Amino acid sequence: MNQNPERHSVRRIILPSGKSIEVVRFDDREKPAPTGLHVCPACSSVLVQPVSWSEAAGDRWELTLECPNCSWTEAGVYDRDQVDQLEERLDDGLAEMLGDLQRLTQANMAEDIDRFVFALRADHILPEDF
Ligand SMILES: [Zn+2]
Repeated sequence: MNQNPERHSVRRIILPSGKSIEVVRFDDREKPAPTGLHVCPACSSVLVQPVSWSEAAGDRWELTLECPNCSWTEAGVYDRDQVDQLEERLDDGLAEMLGDLQRLTQANMAEDIDRFVFALRADHILPEDF
Protein backbone atom coordinates (compact mmCIF):
# COMPACT_ATOMS: atom_id res chain seq x y z
CA MET A 1 0.00 0.00 0.00
CA ASN A 2 1.27 3.44 -0.85
CA GLN A 3 1.16 5.41 2.41
CA ASN A 4 1.63 9.13 2.45
CA PRO A 5 3.64 9.79 5.61
CA GLU A 6 2.04 13.20 6.03
CA ARG A 7 -1.41 11.71 6.45
CA HIS A 8 -1.21 9.88 9.71
CA SER A 9 -1.96 10.53 13.31
CA VAL A 10 0.00 9.27 16.27
CA ARG A 11 -1.62 8.56 19.59
CA ARG A 12 0.59 7.80 22.57
CA ILE A 13 -0.81 5.39 25.14
CA ILE A 14 0.85 5.05 28.54
CA LEU A 15 0.58 1.54 29.95
CA PRO A 16 0.11 0.98 33.71
CA SER A 17 3.80 0.05 33.98
CA GLY A 18 4.81 3.47 32.69
CA LYS A 19 5.96 2.10 29.33
CA SER A 20 4.38 3.96 26.44
CA ILE A 21 3.38 2.79 23.01
CA GLU A 22 2.50 4.79 19.93
CA VAL A 23 -0.55 3.91 17.91
CA VAL A 24 -0.04 5.22 14.38
CA ARG A 25 -3.05 5.55 12.17
CA PHE A 26 -2.71 6.10 8.42
CA ASP A 27 -5.41 7.71 6.41
CA ASP A 28 -5.28 8.03 2.63
CA ARG A 29 -8.49 9.99 2.32
CA GLU A 30 -8.78 13.74 2.45
CA LYS A 31 -11.04 14.52 5.34
CA PRO A 32 -13.85 16.98 4.69
CA ALA A 33 -15.41 18.68 7.69
CA PRO A 34 -17.59 16.06 9.29
CA THR A 35 -21.33 16.40 8.99
CA GLY A 36 -24.17 14.25 10.21
CA LEU A 37 -25.95 13.36 13.40
CA HIS A 38 -22.71 12.18 15.02
CA VAL A 39 -21.32 15.74 14.97
CA CYS A 40 -22.08 17.87 18.00
CA PRO A 41 -23.41 21.33 17.00
CA ALA A 42 -22.16 22.76 20.30
CA CYS A 43 -18.54 21.55 20.47
CA SER A 44 -17.94 19.81 17.07
CA SER A 45 -17.10 16.49 18.74
CA VAL A 46 -17.78 13.56 16.41
CA LEU A 47 -18.85 11.28 19.25
CA VAL A 48 -22.56 12.11 19.47
CA GLN A 49 -24.56 8.99 20.25
CA PRO A 50 -28.22 8.08 20.42
CA VAL A 51 -29.32 7.47 24.01
CA SER A 52 -32.89 6.49 23.11
CA TRP A 53 -34.74 5.77 19.89
CA SER A 54 -38.15 4.68 18.68
CA GLU A 55 -39.85 4.30 15.31
CA ALA A 56 -41.87 7.25 14.15
CA ALA A 57 -44.38 7.58 11.32
CA GLY A 58 -43.27 7.53 7.68
CA ASP A 59 -40.12 5.38 7.99
CA ARG A 60 -38.58 7.92 10.35
CA TRP A 61 -36.98 7.57 13.76
CA GLU A 62 -37.30 9.62 16.90
CA LEU A 63 -33.88 9.84 18.55
CA THR A 64 -32.49 11.46 21.64
CA LEU A 65 -28.90 12.37 20.87
CA GLU A 66 -26.23 13.17 23.43
CA CYS A 67 -22.66 14.45 23.18
CA PRO A 68 -20.37 12.72 25.71
CA ASN A 69 -17.92 15.61 25.44
CA CYS A 70 -20.09 18.59 26.42
CA SER A 71 -23.38 16.93 27.45
CA TRP A 72 -25.33 18.62 24.64
CA THR A 73 -28.56 16.74 24.09
CA GLU A 74 -31.44 16.98 21.66
CA ALA A 75 -34.50 14.95 20.77
CA GLY A 76 -35.74 14.97 17.20
CA VAL A 77 -37.30 13.00 14.38
CA TYR A 78 -34.88 12.01 11.64
CA ASP A 79 -35.29 10.29 8.29
CA ARG A 80 -33.98 6.85 7.43
CA ASP A 81 -30.88 8.13 5.54
CA GLN A 82 -29.70 10.25 8.47
CA VAL A 83 -30.17 7.36 10.90
CA ASP A 84 -28.41 4.92 8.53
CA GLN A 85 -25.43 7.28 8.31
CA LEU A 86 -25.29 7.61 12.09
CA GLU A 87 -25.41 3.81 12.41
CA GLU A 88 -22.54 3.47 9.92
CA ARG A 89 -20.51 6.01 11.85
CA LEU A 90 -21.17 4.15 15.13
CA ASP A 91 -20.04 0.88 13.48
CA ASP A 92 -16.83 2.58 12.27
CA GLY A 93 -16.21 3.93 15.77
CA LEU A 94 -16.69 0.46 17.27
CA ALA A 95 -14.27 -1.05 14.73
CA GLU A 96 -11.67 1.64 15.57
CA MET A 97 -12.07 0.98 19.28
CA LEU A 98 -11.71 -2.78 18.83
CA GLY A 99 -8.56 -2.19 16.74
CA ASP A 100 -7.08 0.01 19.47
CA LEU A 101 -8.02 -2.57 22.11
CA GLN A 102 -6.30 -5.31 20.12
CA ARG A 103 -3.10 -3.24 19.79
CA LEU A 104 -3.21 -2.45 23.50
CA THR A 105 -3.71 -6.13 24.38
CA GLN A 106 -0.75 -7.10 22.19
CA ALA A 107 1.43 -4.44 23.84
CA ASN A 108 0.43 -5.69 27.30
CA MET A 109 1.17 -9.30 26.30
CA ALA A 110 4.58 -8.27 24.97
CA GLU A 111 5.24 -6.59 28.31
CA ASP A 112 4.19 -9.73 30.23
CA ILE A 113 6.55 -11.82 28.08
CA ASP A 114 9.40 -9.34 28.69
CA ARG A 115 8.79 -9.63 32.44
CA PHE A 116 8.67 -13.43 32.24
CA VAL A 117 11.94 -13.59 30.28
CA PHE A 118 13.57 -11.21 32.75
CA ALA A 119 12.39 -13.37 35.70
CA LEU A 120 13.61 -16.56 33.96
CA ARG A 121 17.04 -15.10 33.34
CA ALA A 122 17.28 -13.93 36.93
CA ASP A 123 16.40 -17.46 38.12
CA HIS A 124 13.24 -16.24 39.84
CA ILE A 125 11.13 -18.91 38.14
CA LEU A 126 11.71 -22.45 39.32
CA PRO A 127 10.23 -25.86 38.32
CA GLU A 128 8.11 -25.90 41.51
CA ASP A 129 6.32 -22.75 40.25
CA PHE A 130 4.41 -24.97 37.80
ZN1 LIG B 1 -20.53 18.49 22.30
